[in-house]
Amino acid sequence: MTTNTQLASVDLVVVGGGIVGLATAYSVLSRFPNKKVVVLEKESTLGAHQTGHNSGVIHSGLYYKPGSQKAKNCLDGYNRILKFCSEFGVAHEVCGKIVVATSEDELGQLEILRQRGEQNGLVGIRRLSSSEIKEYEPHCAGIAGLLVLQTGIVDYSAMTSRLAERIANLGGQILTNQKVTEISSSTNSTILSTSTLEFSAKSVVTCGGLFSDRLAMLTEPNLDLRIVPFRGEYFELKKSAAHLVRNLIYPVPDPDFPFLGVHFTRRIDGSIECGPNAVLAFKREGYRKTDSPAMIGARFAELVNEAGGKKWVPRAPRLPAFVKDPSATSFPVKSGRVWIDTAKWSQIRRAVETHSSGLIIDRGGAPAISLPAEEFASKDSELLACDVECRIAGVEGFYLELDIPGLAGIIPIAKQESAPATSQGAR
Ligand SMILES: Cc1cc2nc3c(=O)[nH]c(=O)nc-3n(C[C@H](O)[C@H](O)[C@H](O)COP(=O)(O)OP(=O)(O)OC[C@H]3O[C@@H](n4cnc5c(N)ncnc54)[C@H](O)[C@@H]3O)c2cc1C
Repeated sequence: MTTNTQLASVDLVVVGGGIVGLATAYSVLSRFPNKKVVVLEKESTLGAHQTGHNSGVIHSGLYYKPGSQKAKNCLDGYNRILKFCSEFGVAHEVCGKIVVATSEDELGQLEILRQRGEQNGLVGIRRLSSSEIKEYEPHCAGIAGLLVLQTGIVDYSAMTSRLAERIANLGGQILTNQKVTEISSSTNSTILSTSTLEFSAKSVVTCGGLFSDRLAMLTEPNLDLRIVPFRGEYFELKKSAAHLVRNLIYPVPDPDFPFLGVHFTRRIDGSIECGPNAVLAFKREGYRKTDSPAMIGARFAELVNEAGGKKWVPRAPRLPAFVKDPSATSFPVKSGRVWIDTAKWSQIRRAVETHSSGLIIDRGGAPAISLPAEEFASKDSELLACDVECRIAGVEGFYLELDIPGLAGIIPIAKQESAPATSQGAR
């Protein structure tokens, strides 16, 4: 256990300040207003992860197996969200959605959805013909559709803020910047620790989203479940194209995948999004299209270490000889430096300009950066891609040196004596 400054006794600690954690705390406090309830959130703001990064749709249980807990919770949750939003003034709209089949082989699955929706208790579900689809979405083409009236849109971040207000009004406490690192149970209570606080709680509910497995492992170390992170990417339609979508348009989902499919969504602010896809991500809470190479490398190092991996010695030293030449050109990037063999510039110029997508250009016969230094420094992913492209093309004279925390422990990058004094970012 860590050395903490205080021990507070409470009835319930909820771990995680996303929508599930806050809804849990709110629900308990609404029924038991005298209970001491604390929410602990590791970030400085609430709803910083899935809750603040989703499509903003209020689903009602079309997809789930009839009779399943998911099906019951979804419709129950739909009704509760609408009640909460109406009662506490959170902007929302029940706009309905259509699911559209574009080929004959999707018709069977569309019918299964209709039956499921009805068995799950949804009202007003209706099959649409190709021409009826156009009554709801004039710019959408399909061979058949399903109209689902019980679907809405909401800003889940706004709802999160309102839940936080209600919790505070009911006497609950929400503490941010409090990452729970230890949970241990004794006979009458559970002790939770963060780096600065310690709580003794009669009950604990963890709602840790993408870290739910790690939180569970604090008390179940042999848990055989892992979160495998996927990132969803969205496009936003230009304002001039927004009129092409009225409400929500979904494809017929492929039952082989646990995703609803890429859909068009009208957000509560009127913008139209198209997405999400599902991209395997190297980080649980990574939102950049390309997570930084240093971060990916560090995660790789972590995984190799966790798996008890051995040191790997590369066949050739990673650091090319020209880097030691005082005439080499270099530009700082985040966690490292780009090196260019100045003597070879005229030969490699075209390849470097192309593979760096114009980040590095020629100026007066010498390599130069095309962006302000600070902005250039943030292009580490793009420059890593350039490094790889140059190697594949056999272009020698371009090298990206990155300081990847933890990686040197597994892969000896280069002998220290051969590294130049300037290679750690001093120039
Ligand atoms: C791309 C995408 C689109 C989606 N679209 C929709 C949609 O349109 N409609 C819909 O209903 N659902 C949608 N979902 C699902 C929905 O977003 C999630 O089910 C929901 O947000 C989960 O909420 P949560 O509170 O469990 O998780 P999160 O919002 O991720 O919250 C978990 C919280 O726990 C905190 N935490 C983790 N570990 C600790 C710790 N050790 N100590 C303290 N705090 C910790 C995290 O910082 C985080 O704030 C979508 C999901 C994705 C990924």
